[in-house]
Amino acid sequence: MLRTHELIEEAGTYLPPEDVDQVHRAYLLAASLHEGQQRASGDPYITHPIAVARILAGYHMDAHCLAAALLHDAVEDTPATFEQVREQFGQEVAGLVDGVTKLGQVHFETREDAQAENFRKMLLAMAQDLRVIIIKLADRLHNMRTLGYLPEAKQRRVARETLDIFAPIAHRLGLNPVKTELEDLSFKHLYPRRARALVEGLRRERGNRAHITDRIEAAVQRDLQEVGVEAEVMGREKHLYSIYRKMQQKALSFQEVHDVYAFRIRVEDVPTCYLVLGRVHNLFKPIPGRFKDYIAIPKANGYQSLHTVVVNPFGGVMEFQIRTRDMDLVSEVGVAAHWQYKIAREGQDQESSPDAGYGWLQQLLQIQQEAGDSAEFLEHLKVDLFPEEVYVFTHKGEILRLPRGATPVDFAYTVHTEIGHQCVGARVNGRIASLRTALRNGDRVEILTDSEHRPNSSWLHFVVTGKARSAIRHHLKTQERETAVALGRGMLERTLDGLGLSFAHVSEEALHRVGEHFQLDSGEALLETIGRGSILAPAVVQHLFPGYLDEHARVEEGPEEPKVAANGAGGNLFVRGMEDIVANLARCCYPIPNDPIVGFLSLGRGITVHRRDCPNLHELAHHPEKWVDVEWAAEPEGAFPVTVQTVVRNTKGVLAGMASRIAECGANIDHVQAEDRDPLHKVIQFTLEVEGREHLARLMRLIRGMNGVERVSRKKG
Ligand code: MN
Repeated sequence: MLRTHELIEEAGTYLPPEDVDQVHRAYLLAASLHEGQQRASGDPYITHPIAVARILAGYHMDAHCLAAALLHDAVEDTPATFEQVREQFGQEVAGLVDGVTKLGQVHFETREDAQAENFRKMLLAMAQDLRVIIIKLADRLHNMRTLGYLPEAKQRRVARETLDIFAPIAHRLGLNPVKTELEDLSFKHLYPRRARALVEGLRRERGNRAHITDRIEAAVQRDLQEVGVEAEVMGREKHLYSIYRKMQQKALSFQEVHDVYAFRIRVEDVPTCYLVLGRVHNLFKPIPGRFKDYIAIPKANGYQSLHTVVVNPFGGVMEFQIRTRDMDLVSEVGVAAHWQYKIAREGQDQESSPDAGYGWLQQLLQIQQEAGDSAEFLEHLKVDLFPEEVYVFTHKGEILRLPRGATPVDFAYTVHTEIGHQCVGARVNGRIASLRTALRNGDRVEILTDSEHRPNSSWLHFVVTGKARSAIRHHLKTQERETAVALGRGMLERTLDGLGLSFAHVSEEALHRVGEHFQLDSGEALLETIGRGSILAPAVVQHLFPGYLDEHARVEEGPEEPKVAANGAGGNLFVRGMEDIVANLARCCYPIPNDPIVGFLSLGRGITVHRRDCPNLHELAHHPEKWVDVEWAAEPEGAFPVTVQTVVRNTKGVLAGMASRIAECGANIDHVQAEDRDPLHKVIQFTLEVEGREHLARLMRLIRGMNGVERVSRKKG
């Protein structure tokens, strides 16, 4: 098929042969899977994935991304499974296909601006991998180009969604050509008559307008040549939707909007920008109050330019934008380009390649994997692109924003305090789920209530919102003494059971003694305090059976789990309600200072500290009585192990180079492990010792900047 051939050819212009081969294999699989399926237009279905992949090849996206684009509808619409894609193309491609499939299952319909913003954030949060969003945008772009074949009602729904959700995301990503095309296509389907009238108006006036534009361009060009300035002067035509929006917002007629001529002047450097501004103001009379210096004071998204409005020789007004070529690229591809320049300039002698316009995408794909990073831009971008929060639906289809790790109990308290108090269960996406399940983006949550039910202090172990925590505490403080005692006893029993101990072996005196330690006057008061959530059951166990936890930790200790002191002087961790305890940093996820963490009490291990996003926590969720509140000390000291995975090209000296960068950065290498990923690439995994998240981020940035290094990420569990 001709168009495949074009795709392969285009990929070949920037990808190595084995990558092109992967794209080709993905095409063959997709073609056989979609065999016999048709689009609404009557074309074979495979033409759609090919078109999407071609759009992405135009942005020089990597082979995984193109392969995923070719297969993006396969898991949803054909017998193919996620597993099959993973077996044949690896985890990365499968993960991308999965991400696009999941986005496709949520309908981002909108009613109001605030919801639209939430929908956009939810979509970004769901995507996790930036490439998923980019594939989704390319998918949407091709669907919009071929929207005319669908029933009219559907056209309008898709166009509305595109205008409200997808075009703004393209804009935020700096994909301006995509944004413009999405807007114009949506506009044409939503307001066909108005769009036709505008197109007609533009067509009628084109000749006349071109004449005026040419004359002004020539006049400016001539003037600049006289003073020896090299510049490109271009007349700009506004796109359809932006003309329409201006008419709407400022209540202007088509003539009034269209009579404003706009020009862009591109020059070499910043001083020349101001020089050109002076010439323009000399040629045409400037309109007071309309000059803006975004070079001295850039816009929040990094945009820089000089803007001025002047009187044109034919009586109307015209706008000039004056900027350097660098600034122009930023305005085309967004704030990410700005960041890329900075890197390129800091680096030794990276010349600006013709691909500079695409490089930022690759860079973005890299930084999204990074641990914390203090650079202002990254923070901005991360907040913007990958919100820390989770976005979930209420059963009415409204969106609630919650902090990451929030549970159905947090959800219930966010809706209403009484719903929180009375919550006995939850349905997530239609299925009964545990109250301590961490909610995920896009989940649809329904709370089951019982008016007799009252909150339970064990909830304090897993809720993450301040609202839920304080409402539960407040309730526990005011509840009946007997209820609190019974609750406390139950919690202590469960904790003991879980540790292979028994409440039956706890004497009245022992309880009393521990109670006194906590300045309480009886064993019953101790149980009451546990029941009210002020003292954790594990802390009581530690005093009832002194040394028990530590002893077992010593006997059954696994191989070299790093230990940290807690609660003592110089301790790195603070464990609420416990004293002088040693905690282990879990080897599955290697938490380092400032990672969000949680403690887990286990027989033979004492407290093991995991990262909040450790996949293993899933299993531990069934034992809420063993969860322990753990926080990092204000300034933890020492070196903490962490695993960093890199993908490098098979060239001499890469490993040695990385090792010396790591040493320069003041980190120890504990362990190195390398294996071939394919004939050209190696996966090298380092276990390092770092001081914390900032140190790690610095180190990863250093390694990432090296020749031959293609990917750097922190290993998660
Ligand atoms: Mn599609």
